[in-house]
Amino acid sequence: MEENRTTVNKVPVIELRHVDKHFGELHVLKDINLSVKKGEVVVVIGPSGSGKSTLCRTINRLETIDSGEIRIDGTKVPEEGRKLAELRSQIGMVFQSFNLFAHKTILDNVTIAPMDVLHKPKKEAREEAMELLKRVGVDNQAAKVPAQLSGGQQQRVAIARALAMHPKAILFDEPTSALDPEMIGEVLDVMTELAKEGMTMVIVTHEMNFARKVADRVIFMDGGSIIEEGAPEDFFEHPQTRRAQDFLNSVK
Ligand code: ADP
Ligand code: MG
Repeated sequence: MEENRTTVNKVPVIELRHVDKHFGELHVLKDINLSVKKGEVVVVIGPSGSGKSTLCRTINRLETIDSGEIRIDGTKVPEEGRKLAELRSQIGMVFQSFNLFAHKTILDNVTIAPMDVLHKPKKEAREEAMELLKRVGVDNQAAKVPAQLSGGQQQRVAIARALAMHPKAILFDEPTSALDPEMIGEVLDVMTELAKEGMTMVIVTHEMNFARKVADRVIFMDGGSIIEEGAPEDFFEHPQTRRAQDFLNSVK
């Protein structure tokens, strides 16, 4: 038993092996190898167009790949079908644009997927949604529709919605890039809490102070490749490549 559990814990939650992807002639992901362990927070940084969003989207097959493989908890993600839907539902996704259902209430936004996909009874789904909304500090907005909330509040709802699916990991693609500056902190605070609680997270961000604080590991991408990878203190203090040095200077 003991040995079994140890073996299970060694399986990465997310694993990409030799992943390649083109958009037509453009080689957007070049031999990407990435392994994210349970409870690990991996921050992905790099210049615009380097492939960060595509990387996130390939993890749950919102984009197809040309070659290589992607595994969620050791299971290879197939191209399509029920198994894909199941694996996809285990990975939460929070985008730059909050992507809430505009005509549904905040509460409904958080309960729809648990009811439809996890077949949770309505009462239970609502109770849990209210707890999650409270956790991200917007439970008093539950009856409103998204447009009545600030951007920062909407993004916190998007995080609650992801949590409601009990995901094995959450991918964040520039979750604060569309926010007014005064709202960035409240969203980063919620993410910092999640990290402390042990949530497995992959975060694309340009918030370097946050990255330094929250990351277990930083990945620097450029031109579709992972150029550098390391502990935040090493990466930020001693970037090894010219490209990473230039990038860090440009965002200072
Ligand atoms: P990042 O998130 O790092 O800014 P992206 O992953 O969005 O980078 O994009 C990587 C490259 O792929 C860019 O050159 C972008 O223009 C291109 N690209 C992204 N999505 C598509 C698409 N659907 N069709 C064609 N090219 C795309
Ligand atoms: Mg992007």
